Amino acid sequence: MSSIIQLLPDHVANQIAAGEVVQRPASVVKELLENAVDARATDIKLIIKDAGKALVQVIDNGLGMSVTDARLCFERHATSKIRQAEDLFSLHTKGFRGEALASIAAIAHVEMKTKQDQEELGTHIIIEGSKFVSQDVAVLPKGTSFAVKNLFFNIPARRNFLKSDTVEYRHIIDEFQRVALAHPKIHFTFYHNGSEMFNLPPSTLRQRIVNIFSGKTNEKLVPVQEETEIVAIQGFVSKPEFAKKNRGEQFFFVNDRFIKSGYLHHAVMAAYDGILKDGAQPSYFLYLSVPPNTIDINIHPTKTEIKFDDEHALYAILRASIKHSLGQFNVAPVLDFDRDSNLDTPYHYKDLEGATPTIQVDGNFNPFSDDKPNKHFSNYKKPEPTANWESLYVGLKQDTDEIGHMTFENEEVTSSLFNDEEVEHSVHKTYQIHKKYIVSSIKSGMVIVDQQRAHQRVLYEQFLVNMTVNQASSQQLLFPLNLFFSSSEMNLIAELQLSLMNTGFVFEENNSDHIVISGIPVNVTESEVSLVLEQLLSDLQDGIPESSFSQNDTIAKSMAKSLAVKTGTHLTEKEQENLVNGLFACKDPNVSPFHKPTFITMRVEDLDKKFAL
Ligand code: ADP
Ligand code: MG
Repeated sequence: MSSIIQLLPDHVANQIAAGEVVQRPASVVKELLENAVDARATDIKLIIKDAGKALVQVIDNGLGMSVTDARLCFERHATSKIRQAEDLFSLHTKGFRGEALASIAAIAHVEMKTKQDQEELGTHIIIEGSKFVSQDVAVLPKGTSFAVKNLFFNIPARRNFLKSDTVEYRHIIDEFQRVALAHPKIHFTFYHNGSEMFNLPPSTLRQRIVNIFSGKTNEKLVPVQEETEIVAIQGFVSKPEFAKKNRGEQFFFVNDRFIKSGYLHHAVMAAYDGILKDGAQPSYFLYLSVPPNTIDINIHPTKTEIKFDDEHALYAILRASIKHSLGQFNVAPVLDFDRDSNLDTPYHYKDLEGATPTIQVDGNFNPFSDDKPNKHFSNYKKPEPTANWESLYVGLKQDTDEIGHMTFENEEVTSSLFNDEEVEHSVHKTYQIHKKYIVSSIKSGMVIVDQQRAHQRVLYEQFLVNMTVNQASSQQLLFPLNLFFSSSEMNLIAELQLSLMNTGFVFEENNSDHIVISGIPVNVTESEVSLVLEQLLSDLQDGIPESSFSQNDTIAKSMAKSLAVKTGTHLTEKEQENLVNGLFACKDPNVSPFHKPTFITMRVEDLDKKFAL
């Protein structure tokens, strides 16, 4: 039989290798930025168009390349950074595999201009799908410029696989931030479709973090510093009260390289043990320096995972040093999450004279008629119960006359305490159990409603209706709210602005790092605004949906989740009733927006069976 094995031609091998190195435009951004850093540039510009799909360009003022190197750098395994395997253990550069440029050139149109400082003239090369198109001598500034156009032009399947511009842009920002955070002494600028998104002058680490993540970040940060034989740690962690809902601002750098490590993340979380709300995520920017021979960076092609020789010691040191910082800056003991903000003295009371208390007696007061209204329901227009709900009750009135005569959670109350009207309505009586479920009798037996899920459904449908008919009412704020966000969060908000306005938000102005809100939806209170927006941003981690319909859907879901009454909240009778009526007035009362059942029913026969045992 004849032999069938062949060596793959270089351009095919490169295309295959590219699959590993270049998943998306952000991978190109990472490789080009890292090359510029390795070339010891002090000024690096990143220019992208259409989320990198049309163009990724990096311009640096680094060492540049000779004519020969300019040609060689596109060969596979062509690197100036290591010469032998041992060099891997004393690595001080980002790159070392010599694969990035070969891979990128195999799947895009690349134009490179490069000049070394001491040379008069530089080299200008165009290479498309691994084929050299042209090479010229050119007058150029010192440094290197790589322009990568039409990524995946020759692999349509990969190109089609790319996500929306919003998602791809997010990934690019992530990569940019990682490199910029690792090198605060380098000047970085970043342009997207002609607008300047970041301009980060050379600075201290703290300033760099603040420049990237908005001015508000400064007050949140607590420094961490520790030096031992096996690791030196420096950086910042956030005070627990500024913990966020998402993991967006968590960074580890090892020897100036961004890495991911579930194990080290665990060490940080352990340091915060007991001082964070459930599910809250601290921000951290931690820089570990270890001897290069105690780590192995080679275990992942994109080099974001590394192996440490002595993980356990590292864990213990990291945890202890963060604990120490949190303690030293006195952040640990002062936490009281359940503090009721209603107990704070409002500002305008501060300067008022004390008034003599007077006593007023309301003769009509009936402790059982109606409790203080819950804010969530006070603005809530009671919908007409639909046939759904009424049908559950049909035939009930005649055969249940006992229902109004007791309350299950409180002590027993006799009918004389209820006024006539209530007895009349006793048919709609509801009871709250364990501040979680609302129980009511229906024709066939009983219904048990999950208050949180039911309210999510009610709010979700309300928001959706408001947004689709564009007529949400909004409450004007006396003092506009200033809310600070990182620039990537600001981008998300800008994209969602229209949909948010449809829910009732009124935006006064948008700046680079904060928004000013002068009106908010009626069912949101002022103190909930930042919570609602934070939750929304966290829900949008995976990108903003493309269509405006699904955008509205995401916003409505997220806001319903933030604003719905939670399990554990006491509801007055009126509120319970409104909620149950509201639920059954919904288009789809059976499930929450997150597809969980909102209520169950139990038939009398089922109960009978239980008692028959
Ligand atoms: P690696 O970074 O792993 O060495 P690359 O394919 O990214 O591999 O780059 C190949 C070589 O090209 C580098 O080793 C370096 O010598 C040279 N090079 C790449 N980018 C630049 C740049 N911006 N300035 C100077 N030299 C560069
Ligand atoms: Mg490289």
